[in-house]
Amino acid sequence: MTTGVDTLPPGIKRAAHQAPADSYLFYQAHGTRPFIDRAEGIWMHGQDGKTYMDAASGAMVCNVGHSNPRVLKAMREQMERATFAYRLQFQSEAAEGLAAEIVDLMPAGLDRVFFVSGGSEAVESCLKFARQYMIATGQGTRYKVISRHPSYHGSTLGALAVTGYTPLSAPFDPMMRPMPKIATPRHYLDGGTEDEDAYALRHADMLEEAILREGPDTVMAFIVEPVGGASTGAVVPGAPYHARIREICDKYGILLIHDEVMTGVGRTGAFLASEHWKVVPDLIAMSKGFAAGYAPLGAMIAPSRMVAKVLDAGGYAHGHTYAGNPIACAAGRAVVREVVERDLSANARIMGARQMAGLRALKEEFPFIGDVRGLGLLQAVEFVADRETMRVLPPELNAAARLVEIAYEKGLIVYFRRTRGGQSGDHIMVTPPLTITDKEVDTLLERLRDSLVALR
Ligand code: PLP
Repeated sequence: MTTGVDTLPPGIKRAAHQAPADSYLFYQAHGTRPFIDRAEGIWMHGQDGKTYMDAASGAMVCNVGHSNPRVLKAMREQMERATFAYRLQFQSEAAEGLAAEIVDLMPAGLDRVFFVSGGSEAVESCLKFARQYMIATGQGTRYKVISRHPSYHGSTLGALAVTGYTPLSAPFDPMMRPMPKIATPRHYLDGGTEDEDAYALRHADMLEEAILREGPDTVMAFIVEPVGGASTGAVVPGAPYHARIREICDKYGILLIHDEVMTGVGRTGAFLASEHWKVVPDLIAMSKGFAAGYAPLGAMIAPSRMVAKVLDAGGYAHGHTYAGNPIACAAGRAVVREVVERDLSANARIMGARQMAGLRALKEEFPFIGDVRGLGLLQAVEFVADRETMRVLPPELNAAARLVEIAYEKGLIVYFRRTRGGQSGDHIMVTPPLTITDKEVDTLLERLRDSLVALR
């Protein structure tokens, strides 16, 4: 379906010259979706007159649901005072206040906050900070960042260099230095028969092998999503994985960066996903659920002991104009208070368990579901041709993509990443706002079941 520019809503004028295609914008799949009218809670109302359940939280963003009154009020109040104050010219109560509240929720020692406007910027900030820390501490030979394949860390060139997903990164290889990758543990796709802990440890030990192969003096950091995002489909590593990774990083003096852009702010049932394993990284990247879609916001969290070294050596040579925008910080502060005071992490655990039980039942019913997995309300459903061998479906079937379209028609929004060659498997993400109720979980599962019946 294409809408064409003639369907622009009232009040939006057509340009004097003709638009070249269906829409003046050129986002992927643009022009094929209805215009948004309004949204509240888990519900989104299109100008097509239909109501959609947002079981994706947009792209795992809207953790506190849409139109949350407390967040809107905080933003409104900030807007009435100052909408922008450049960080080199003014301090901002909103930014300072949010930083203080965030530090309170971090593991001990992670006590300095560097604001940005999104996930890629947060990752980029970690990478550049790590490099400057190495230089400041006389370790200038260290610059390599080991990451995993598959993985996703963002779309800017630095974040893309550590992203393990070649369809996205390959065109840009000549423009950046590709970084070493190790395999992401995916127990289910590797047959699921090896002892889970042994499998996890074997994969963690691949980090040590990579460090030795690359030369320990050249390796600066390892970056990891504590629970996989859309590129792996909510892969939760076996219990000993993260602790072993921490040990290996310590052994070789390598910084451990946790990319909590998707997993942070309650999504997995704890404020940070790393809390599940009690592993403390050196740097954390956050975004998405941080201001929950109300405004662009992200952050790097770093320890004072590292920040001091970088500042003493001349300062952190990095920054973005919008960093610490007061409206974004006011939104983030209200979001974080909602998550903490309403204990939405606990709701993510409770509703996550209800949703997971429903997904498991669907797995019993539909043989082309090979695996359902996740943590809290970061969950995925994997489609396979054969459950015994975990043989993937032929890419031309586009099972996840078709399911997403069928569900959309039925008023259910679930998320998927176009797999392009099957590197990531074939899965959808089921990641509703953390405010979801038990009744809404049941409606979600009913609509998903209807969609699976239509896909069959
Ligand atoms: N890191 C992870 C784990 C992500 O899931 C994403 C986005 O999906 C990013 C980084 C990049 O964030 P953004 O799209 O806000 O730049």
